[in-house]
Amino acid sequence: MNWFLKGLKKGIKTERVIQKNEIALWSTRIMKAKENGKVSCPTSAIENSIWNPERCIFCGRCYPYYYPNGDEDIFEVKQNNKLFKRSFYVYPIDVGTCSGCNFEVKLLASPQYDMTRFGIFFTNTPRHADALLVMGVITERMEEVLERAYDAMPNPKLVITIGTCAISGGIIGRNPKIKPDVVVYGCPPNPYTILKALIKAKGDKL
Ligand code: SF4
Ligand code: SF4
Repeated sequence: MNWFLKGLKKGIKTERVIQKNEIALWSTRIMKAKENGKVSCPTSAIENSIWNPERCIFCGRCYPYYYPNGDEDIFEVKQNNKLFKRSFYVYPIDVGTCSGCNFEVKLLASPQYDMTRFGIFFTNTPRHADALLVMGVITERMEEVLERAYDAMPNPKLVITIGTCAISGGIIGRNPKIKPDVVVYGCPPNPYTILKALIKAKGDKL
């Protein structure tokens, strides 16, 4: 029996929603441990004992003085738009990833995460997009492409940055000039975290 028929027999197997106070095993905030120690952070994400998720590449070099707490709500929605409640078309743009972020984003369309059940869809043209989903460190040639994609989108529109490279430039890059409405921290972020951020960006509750 092929995988499709097996799937039909077993029923729907989408990713379940994490309940309050439940610890997610994936995307995480970094927590400070009680004991102090010398941390050599490659991106200066920890300064004066304060952790900056925008710069963190989640390399784990700061462990055990800083450690992940298993919080999947590791994103920030600065602005959402309830106009997109019924359908939310997202245009993903890779401005220079290592493939990590776009691999996780791709999984949103898989049967496990199935973003379409929340009215979220990918579009292959910025002209039909409600949100621009930016991934990767911005390269010289892609800067203009990014701006052109943004300008081609109809109003109202949102900008979502996914992963440390797109948010802060990570280790080698610089961040895009376009200001994000939603930032999803991580390197790369977990698909579940990205999905949650998209649901909140379109003005829905989980
Ligand atoms: S995980 Fe790595 S990048 Fe993040 S704070 Fe720790 S040492 Fe810095
Ligand atoms: S944020 Fe991390 S996973 Fe995403 S493109 Fe940059 S290095 Fe790759």
